[in-house]
Amino acid sequence: MRPGIFLLVAPPESVNVGLVVGQDRAWLIDSGSSPAQGERIRAAAAAVCDRPLAGVALTHGHWDHSFGLTAFADLETVGHQDCQTALRGAESAAAAHDLGLDLDRLPGPARTISLIGLRDLGGGVVLELAHFGPAHTLGDLVVALPGADLFFVGDLIETAGAPQFDPESSLDGWVKSLDSLWAALKPNSLVVPGHGQVAEPWQVGHQRAGLAALWGQTEWAYHQGVALEQIYDHDHLEWPWDRPTAERGIALAYAELRARGPRRAPLPLIETHRLDDPRP
Ligand SMILES: [Zn+2]
Repeated sequence: MRPGIFLLVAPPESVNVGLVVGQDRAWLIDSGSSPAQGERIRAAAAAVCDRPLAGVALTHGHWDHSFGLTAFADLETVGHQDCQTALRGAESAAAAHDLGLDLDRLPGPARTISLIGLRDLGGGVVLELAHFGPAHTLGDLVVALPGADLFFVGDLIETAGAPQFDPESSLDGWVKSLDSLWAALKPNSLVVPGHGQVAEPWQVGHQRAGLAALWGQTEWAYHQGVALEQIYDHDHLEWPWDRPTAERGIALAYAELRARGPRRAPLPLIETHRLDDPRP
């Protein structure tokens, strides 16, 4: 990692939680998977950091990244304005039930942003928060540290396995989000995924290529009139990742395409012979 930046891996989903320490204050990236774990993360941060913890930025609203927020209610907590959709979704409800928690009593971020945010931690350490559009969820945030050339990207990138498709994931948007992320990377940038080993830029390109193949091939098949259940086995198509993962992605892409409705009709052409007719 880079100086002043720490990583903590939180069970049970092995979530990467970041701690960024500036000259004046520190911030966490993601909050842990339960209120009790949030407390433990806060204590662990205090043990390695001699600056006050000032805030928590959520990469997205999935329970394994956000259920620890309760432990930071006295600090500034920030997420995307749409991260509540995941935080209140079926997966969160099931996790809350398993943990014996009341989902309605779990807080979301106190402050939300729609596109861009900035937090100055002092001494030239600045957190830049950016939303590149719907992708893994409707409300993903990338937290960039330009000075350290490091990016916390939540579940936009997976190095522990294939991308995790959620019912609210947008395949089209995910490709575009990774285009935006990729454009910001330099050769030595480090990318901290939501789960798994810290990634290098080529791994972002690799995952972007896989998602683009899923989206682009499904789009082609959809417009050829291929039925959803026949797309995976279509002769001309090859798929990234294992079959169950690819089929989940295809189903999401197909639903996304269907929700768009028919393609816009082309403009009507004036017949050329009318232009040649000399009569007034
Ligand atoms: Zn997630």
